[in-house]
Amino acid sequence: MASIFSRIIAGQIPGDFIFREPRWVALLDIRPTSAGHALLIPLVEAPLLADLPPATLADAGRLLARLTRALKQVTGCPAVNIVLNDGPVAGQEVPHVHWHVVPRWPDDGRGYRFAPQPGTGLATLAADLATAWDTLDNDQ
Ligand code: 5GP
Repeated sequence: MASIFSRIIAGQIPGDFIFREPRWVALLDIRPTSAGHALLIPLVEAPLLADLPPATLADAGRLLARLTRALKQVTGCPAVNIVLNDGPVAGQEVPHVHWHVVPRWPDDGRGYRFAPQPGTGLATLAADLATAWDTLDNDQ
């Protein structure tokens, strides 16, 4: 079954669109964390970021930056959180890749911090990751 986002993109469910491009759309979240909370969504219905085709992924930085500029211009927010919940364990509810771009204001009371832990074994972990990095290319 198509995801809720695919159904919105197809016009089967209403959506408040900010833009449509050949590979991406942005629309407002129906349950916003703050005024202007937007979602950047690829047309291709991939569950995880790494599942996206390289050409689609390559667009993302440009679109996130432009969407952030539009949100700041319209809402007057001085900052945003850009969040992607990549997998159900990380809090992803809709299995169709999407970035949240959430406007923030001073003292808005929303906070945003993961609980920090003491860093142990960092050098070993970094070395293991560097080895893994070298075995992968940008499309894997
Ligand atoms: P996730 O938890 O998957 O990272 O975020 C899913 C987001 O999709 C939530 O913030 C939720 O409010 C939003 N959402 C769920 N259903 C709809 C819908 O029908 N329309 C819109 N515009 N947003 C939705």
